[in-house]
Amino acid sequence: MRSWSVPKVPPLPGAGVPPRLFDTAAGEIVPTRPGPTARMYVCGITPYDATHLGHANTYLAFDLVNRVWRDAGHQVHFTQNATDVDDPLLERAEQTGLDWRELAEREIELFRTDMEALRILPPREYVAVTEVVDQVAELVERLRDKGATYDLDGDVYFDVAAAPKFGAVSGYSEGLMLTLSGERGGDPGRPGKKHPLDWLLWRAERPGEPSWPSRLGRGRPGWHVECTAIALANLGGGFDVAGGGSDLIFPHHECGAHEGHVASGEWPFARAYVHAGMVALDGEKMSKSKGNLVFVSRLRGQIDPMAVRLALLAHHYRADWEWTADQSASAEARLARWRSAAGLRTGPEAGSVLEEVRARLADDLDAPGALAVIDGWAERALAGGGTDPGAPALVGDVADALLGVEL
Ligand code: ZN
Repeated sequence: MRSWSVPKVPPLPGAGVPPRLFDTAAGEIVPTRPGPTARMYVCGITPYDATHLGHANTYLAFDLVNRVWRDAGHQVHFTQNATDVDDPLLERAEQTGLDWRELAEREIELFRTDMEALRILPPREYVAVTEVVDQVAELVERLRDKGATYDLDGDVYFDVAAAPKFGAVSGYSEGLMLTLSGERGGDPGRPGKKHPLDWLLWRAERPGEPSWPSRLGRGRPGWHVECTAIALANLGGGFDVAGGGSDLIFPHHECGAHEGHVASGEWPFARAYVHAGMVALDGEKMSKSKGNLVFVSRLRGQIDPMAVRLALLAHHYRADWEWTADQSASAEARLARWRSAAGLRTGPEAGSVLEEVRARLADDLDAPGALAVIDGWAERALAGGGTDPGAPALVGDVADALLGVEL
């Protein structure tokens, strides 16, 4: 389906280096080593509610990866899905009396508008699951042909015994996996399963639920396998980065990795599994089910979207942190200082600003460190230091190209 518009990225002198990123599977910071085209899959929203700050925080982190790769001279092939048919969406549609398709369409459109306002570089393919049900069913068939599945009352499950490396992405204990499976859409207690951690690949038609015809019978895709199918179809196996919030480590990314492994024979399915931290409000993780959300659409009605971006960049992407209203004010003040400094006729030499911002971001996306570099330059510039007529424009380009903050 339609993606969203591409923000302008100003060219910068010279080139940076590909970022080192924390790979959850490796448990440490590792170099990314993309080919001429870096390949990244970032899990998209389930469109039953508006984009909240937690989403924005995640998509901003991977936008930085995208920008740093580009600055290092790579093309970036970025793919994202929208889970536009799933239990939470159907439940919300039912509660609100809306058709689930209308609800999904409305929230996806709002998401696009939010992403544009935040100047997130769009994916090359933005794929709704309902567009690719056939592809997902084909992948489930492929897994079945490899002996990795079994049927349970018409539903198709992935047999965890077919995944010898299960646990390699999350590193979690079986006890924790069982708990998280129950909390995050799994059904560890369903009678008849071979193992409680086996997961649903294809859900047979139920009365009143949407379904599609396939050689598996009428039904709809399970959650994890949709991303595996979309990633394989667009990026192929062995792509550079699989990304999402840290609540996707298990079961979503763990299960997807083994589906991809069995289907393609390639291990690892993604070379790095990269996860953004959770944003809390009033001490609790911001989540739709808890209802404690700060919506991006509302916040950007109150402050400049570039201040929203700066407020998020003030936290390291892997940190779990808490949103407080005063963060709007400090981000607005920072944006005002940067804009004043970038509007000066001259400023202190800025070549070192470019190099330091590049170095900070290449080091596991140290955005707070990058902000401090520009803060320092802006402070010196506003104090009247510096006679370089090219410096203010260069700093503006650095903020725009690497941090996505248009001054
Ligand atoms: Zn996904």
